[in-house]
Amino acid sequence: MPTETVYGLAANALDGAAVAAVFAKKQRPAGHPLILHARDPRPFARFDDRAERLSAFWPGPLALVLPVMRDSGVASVVTGGRDTIAVRCPDHPVALALLEMLPFPLAAPSANRFGEVSPTTAAHVMAAFPELPVLDGGSCQVGVESTIVDLTGPVAAILRPGGIPGDAVALALGEELGVAGQTAAPGTLPAHYAPRARVVLAEDAATAVVALRKAGVRASAIRRRPSPEYARALYAELREADATGAEVIVCEPAAIGGLGDAVNDRLRRAAASWEPPG
Ligand code: AMP
Ligand code: MG
Repeated sequence: MPTETVYGLAANALDGAAVAAVFAKKQRPAGHPLILHARDPRPFARFDDRAERLSAFWPGPLALVLPVMRDSGVASVVTGGRDTIAVRCPDHPVALALLEMLPFPLAAPSANRFGEVSPTTAAHVMAAFPELPVLDGGSCQVGVESTIVDLTGPVAAILRPGGIPGDAVALALGEELGVAGQTAAPGTLPAHYAPRARVVLAEDAATAVVALRKAGVRASAIRRRPSPEYARALYAELREADATGAEVIVCEPAAIGGLGDAVNDRLRRAAASWEPPG
C-alpha cells in the first residue's frame, strides 16, 4: 500500500500468520519489530499526555513507541514479543481509505527486501515482488520513513529521524529530546537502505564524479537540493543510479535540520553498507 513515506508491505496486525508472512517475504530478521498503522492507534497502545500531544501530527510521518495494550489482539510477532509497540496513522488517501474500510489495523514495514532501498513508487514494489498485488497511489510525497519517537522512558527520544523534523517534535512536547543510543532502537542498523553501487558522500559531487570517471570508475552524482525535495527524490535516484550500472554513487549531504537530518541519516547508512567485493 502507498503511504506518504514509502510503500508498505501490509498485513493484518491481529493475524500472526499474516505478519509472519511479511517477515518471510522481506527476509526481515525477527528482531526488527513492525510499525502498526491505524486510523486511530489508541486501542493498541497506552497513550499518556506526551503521546496525546504528538498525536497532533497524525495523519503524518511520526511513529510513537508506547506500552502495548495487552488485550488489544495485536499479534506478538508485530512487536517481537516486546511490551512496547510503535504506532502511527499514515497521511495518504489510499492508506487512510484502506484503514477506514478494514476491521483491523495493518502492520506494515517498507515493501522491499531487508537492507535494500525502500520503494517510493508502485513500480519499485512490483520490481521486487511481481507476485504481490500493489495499490498504486503514485509517488510518495515525503519519500523517507517516519520519525520514530520513543515515549517509554522518562525523556522522549528520537530513535530514527524521518518525515517530521526533531525540532517540531520537541516544540510540540515543550521539552528537549533525549539522545537515543545507536542500539536503542531494535532494527536500526548502521548499514541499511543500500543500493548495489558503493555510496560515498562529498560536498561537491560533480567534481568527485569527474575525478572518478578519469580514473575509469563508472560514477554518478546525486546533488543537494532543498531538503523536502531531496527526501522525496532520494530513493528513486539511488535506484536509477543502480539501473545505469554505476559502480559508485557520490551523494551530497543535505542541509542540517528538518528533513535534511533524515536524508543524511539514510545517506550515512547507505554509505556504511558497502563491503569490498570478494
Ligand atoms: P520500519 O523499518 O520503517 O518498518 O520501522 C520499524 C522500526 O521501528 C524498527 O526497526 C524499530 O527500529 C522501530 N520499532 C518498531 N517497534 C518498536 C518497539 N516496540 N520498540 C522500539 N522500536 C520499535
Ligand atoms: Mg524498511
